[in-house]
Amino acid sequence: MERPRSFPVCCYCGACAAFIPDFEKYREEEVVWDKGCGGSASTGFCFSFCPRTFAACRLCEEECPRKDYGVCDFSPNTSSPEERILAYYEDIVIARARDVSLRVGPNSGAITAMLCGALDEGFIDAAVIATRTEDWRAEPFVATTPAEVVRGVGPKYTACPSVKGLWEAIDRGYENIAMVGTGCNIEAVRRLQALHMPALELDRVKVLIGLFCTEAFWHRDLVRFLAARDIDIRAVEKFYVMGGNFIVETVDSDFSIPTRELAACVRDTCHLCEDFTAQLADISAGSSGSPEGWTSLIIRTGGGRELVEVATAAGAIETKPMDEAGIEKMKRLAFRKKMMNYGNIMDQIGICAACLTNPYSFTLQSMQ
Ligand SMILES: Cc1cc2nc3c(=O)[nH]c(=O)nc-3n(C[C@H](O)[C@H](O)[C@H](O)COP(=O)(O)OP(=O)(O)OC[C@H]3O[C@@H](n4cnc5c(N)ncnc54)[C@H](O)[C@@H]3O)c2cc1C
Ligand code: SF4
Ligand code: SF4
Repeated sequence: MERPRSFPVCCYCGACAAFIPDFEKYREEEVVWDKGCGGSASTGFCFSFCPRTFAACRLCEEECPRKDYGVCDFSPNTSSPEERILAYYEDIVIARARDVSLRVGPNSGAITAMLCGALDEGFIDAAVIATRTEDWRAEPFVATTPAEVVRGVGPKYTACPSVKGLWEAIDRGYENIAMVGTGCNIEAVRRLQALHMPALELDRVKVLIGLFCTEAFWHRDLVRFLAARDIDIRAVEKFYVMGGNFIVETVDSDFSIPTRELAACVRDTCHLCEDFTAQLADISAGSSGSPEGWTSLIIRTGGGRELVEVATAAGAIETKPMDEAGIEKMKRLAFRKKMMNYGNIMDQIGICAACLTNPYSFTLQSMQ
């Protein structure tokens, strides 16, 4: 059978490093199975939770995590196309941190403030956030105090293996854990939860905070892209996106680069992603749809609502309803991403994501 066009698709969520006993390694922000898993026992396990094994949608009527949320994009049985654009939600508000020092460009610091408030009030006892290295590699970090949470403020545009951080928090014995992550990170956790394996202790995950996400960059390509403009990534203090431009603040200068110029730095896996709003999170957050200095919050579950209530009562954030224009803008962006990437996803269905990066890769078709 002719093999469909395929991409190297690992999104570096960290789930296999956390949950596969014979996990080998990551190289350049991608999983590597040098020995080749070749369909061993562990393959079935990682296949079931890797967010890039699209074939898992065959579980549609059984264990698919999307089923519970009515947001499956492949099955006609769940929800209407209109409902699927932002996926299931209970409410949408805009929020900002009361502490203005948490603002990074147009970003309000609302997530950081919510986590600080939730720790102060005992709603959570640990928060998995993303810190960064000196050269801006994103790394998971288990924060247990507000001062530690503040270390993660602001976006890092390289992929972060956040699920590894979640496992570390579980392993260290925390009982009420929050995790911040991009949609792919959140999907990995939901798939793991859908396995209903008590040994994984995922009942300790209290709230998943998803980030709106158009794309993430390969670290090596971002470094080269900046170097070509005489910017040393180690001198960068802040990155953020504002008005369609990628803003780079260094110690002595600011640069504004149209985001389309970074197209070559986008991770391959992001071309296979239809999830702009982190559809499976308890609460999703992004700047799109909000005025500058505010964060859009899509509250999807009781856990997400409780987090906002606790943080508001603690005086950490203030909220307002989002206007219709903001909601329409989020829908437009979410729809655009789905339309752009659906074709690529359909090509990829049936191929094991992890195995694409090893020399003995195989396809589901070849197993049948
Ligand atoms: C790769 C990426 C792409 C994004 N694309 C969009 C977009 O297209 N449109 C949009 O509206 N918003 C996008 N965002 C989200 C946006 O940049 C802000 O993070 C969001 O608005 C929340 O702002 P805040 O000030 O409330 O969060 P903050 O209080 O600054 O908290 C942000 C939290 O996210 C965590 N975090 C940062 N980077 C990462 C990462 N790479 N992986 C996991 N966790 C991370 C931090 O540790 C922190 O806990 C993107 C974020 C990322 C990381
Ligand atoms: S995307 Fe799949 S292969 Fe890559 S880190 Fe996550 S679980 Fe592992
Ligand atoms: S675009 Fe999708 S795959 Fe890429 S980082 Fe964002 S959520 Fe993950």
